[in-house]
Amino acid sequence: MRHVYVNGDYLPETEARVSIFDRGFLFADGVYEVTLVLDGRLVDFSGHMARLRRSLGELDMPFSLAEEKLLEIHRELIERNQISEGLVYLQVTRGVADRDFNFPLKSTPNTVVLFTQKKSIVDSPLAARGQHVVTFDDLRWRRCDIKTVQLLYPSMAKMQAKAQGADDAWLVKDGFITEGSSSNAYIVTTDGTVVTRDLSTDILQGITREAVLLCAGSLQLRVEERPFTVEESENAAEAFSTSASGLVSPVVSINDKPIGAGKPGSITAHLRQLYLERKRASAI
Ligand code: PLP
Repeated sequence: MRHVYVNGDYLPETEARVSIFDRGFLFADGVYEVTLVLDGRLVDFSGHMARLRRSLGELDMPFSLAEEKLLEIHRELIERNQISEGLVYLQVTRGVADRDFNFPLKSTPNTVVLFTQKKSIVDSPLAARGQHVVTFDDLRWRRCDIKTVQLLYPSMAKMQAKAQGADDAWLVKDGFITEGSSSNAYIVTTDGTVVTRDLSTDILQGITREAVLLCAGSLQLRVEERPFTVEESENAAEAFSTSASGLVSPVVSINDKPIGAGKPGSITAHLRQLYLERKRASAI
C-alpha cells in the first residue's frame, strides 16, 4: 500500500487523517507543488521549493520546514513507494482553526501533506498523438501566480473541454491566451519563433516553462514572451504546453482547427527531447 506523509508521520494512505476544520478544506487556504520524478530522482527540486516559498509569502502564511527536511521527505516517499517515474505532491495549509474569515494566530501549525503518484510520464500516448484543446474564458481569480489549491475553475474548464471531445482547456483573457488548465501555453509561429505569455499575476510561473525557454535558447530559437491571441494560435505552425506532469506536450488543434499539419511539430519534439535529456542529467 502507498505510504504518505502527514505532519511528521509516514502512514499507509488509509490511515492518514486531516481535520475537517483544516483551512485548506474550508477556505482552500493552502498552496502546493508537484515535482516530477525521473529515474527515481527529483527534477528541479530547488525551483519548486523556491516557488513554494514565494506562494507562502504572497499569502502571508508562516511555514518553518527547511528545504533539506522537505528534500528528505520527498526522497523517503520515493523510496518507500518505489517511484521510478511519477510525481510527488506537496501541500501546505494554514492549519486547523475554528471557521473564521480572520486568519488564525501565526503560531497555528501548518498542515503538511505529501504523497506520490506512480505514472508513466515520458511514454505518454497523449504526447505521441498531440492534444486537442478548446478555449474558455479565464474566470479564475486574479492571482494566478500563486499556486493555491483553489482549482475548481480549471477543473471545470477541463471537464467542459472533455465534454466537447477535446483533451484540455486553454484559458482566454481579453482575447489573449493566458495558459492551460494546468500548464503553460505556447505557440510556434510560421517563422519559427516560440511565443508564450510573459510572467505576471495572470499565469503561474511554470518551473518547466523556465527550463524549456532555456532549451529554446540553446536550440537558437527566437523566443518572445508576450500575450498572443486565439487567432494567432489557430494560425500557428505548432503549439504545445508545458508542466511537470506533461513535460513538453504537443497541441495539434485549437477549437477544432488543426495547427500546422495537424500533427505534433518538430520544434516541439526537439524541445521535449532536450528538456528530458537535461532533466535526466540534473535530477537529484
Ligand atoms: N500553469 C498552471 C495553471 C498550472 O497548474 C501548472 C502546473 O500545475 C503550470 C502552469 C505548469 O507549472 P510547472 O511547469 O511548474 O508544473
